[in-house]
Amino acid sequence: MTRVADSQRFILGAEVDAFEREMARQLEVGDAIGVTSGTDALLVALMALGVGRGDEVVLPAYSFFATAGCVSRLGATPVFVDIDPETFNVSPAAMAAAITSSTKALLPVHLFGQCADMTALRALSDRTGVPIVEDAAQAIGARYHGRQAGTFGALACFSFFPSKNLGAFGDAGLVTTDDPALAREVRLLRGHGMEPKYFHWRIGGNFRLDALQAAILRVKAPHLAAWSAARRHNANRYRRMFAELGLTDLVRLPVEAEGCEHIYNQFVIRAPQRDALRAHLTERQIGTEIYYPLSLHRQPCYSGTQGTPGTPGTTGTTGTAPSVARLPLDVADEAAATSLALPIYGELTEEQQRHVVASIAEFFEAPRLRTD
Ligand SMILES: *Cc1c(COP(=O)(O)O)cnc(C)c1O
Repeated sequence: MTRVADSQRFILGAEVDAFEREMARQLEVGDAIGVTSGTDALLVALMALGVGRGDEVVLPAYSFFATAGCVSRLGATPVFVDIDPETFNVSPAAMAAAITSSTKALLPVHLFGQCADMTALRALSDRTGVPIVEDAAQAIGARYHGRQAGTFGALACFSFFPSKNLGAFGDAGLVTTDDPALAREVRLLRGHGMEPKYFHWRIGGNFRLDALQAAILRVKAPHLAAWSAARRHNANRYRRMFAELGLTDLVRLPVEAEGCEHIYNQFVIRAPQRDALRAHLTERQIGTEIYYPLSLHRQPCYSGTQGTPGTPGTTGTTGTAPSVARLPLDVADEAAATSLALPIYGELTEEQQRHVVASIAEFFEAPRLRTD
């Protein structure tokens, strides 16, 4: 941080150049382009592929909103498809069924830190000629049959939001690609399509990464593998504890798909009476989160009907954005109703995990005792 202050170069520059070179090496990919956030990484990646009005982009109905929002912001239509009941990741068969002559990109998400079924999705992309953009915001460093997340698509997008496995001191993101032409396009779009100064070849934007965030991430990035290993260790410890207390019939633990090295950005269980269980854990000082309480196709901005009523609507924006959900999205809806993320960060102690699992056992014990 002192080096950045002394340089007086606060945006891009040598610090960001060095960060990009180091990240490309670490993520085993040809090029890495630092941007303002994971959201802007998605936006600029789709822009680089020319996604715009009249185009469709196929994506899972169960993800963080940015995955869909970026498609709509470009005037294209997000096409929501269902997820796999085991992994929370997009169903390749559902994605295949949603492709039309308007499909401009496939946008799988490596949700919670585990790669989507990239063997099937790559085959689908090869067969149809539709490029893949990976939303790898939650999966930095995850591996799929030995290969890192972000090396399967034409482009991949990462986020350094502080809750991700590699977090900045604010917002930051990254686009990666092995295609030099796409890398050039993303770099151009990142700075208003400008080259040289004040000559504009594209209508880009300001998606430039701050040098301070790059400097901080350069210090943290070498620790990523150890931090993710600690999360994996904690995940295995949870599995043992849930089994020891006989809870595996009551709650569904996250499933590691074959060939996947899950980095557990989140450890998400599925449980009946999820909201009551969450309240019970909150009473016991255990922080939990619901990723995500509402599937994307049900969001009010996509004319969904299950949003919290009586909120916004005074901002002057009118109407809702078009979206398409051609097939049933039952698995996404079921996940939204039952999923609960437990603490999984690397510094979590065995004692803390025991408290979490014992509290869950207590929740399911209590009603049983009462009915006896
Ligand atoms: C965090 C996240 C994003 C957006 O990243 P930001 O850096 O917060 O803009 C996009 N997609 C997914 C799946 C995410 O988890």
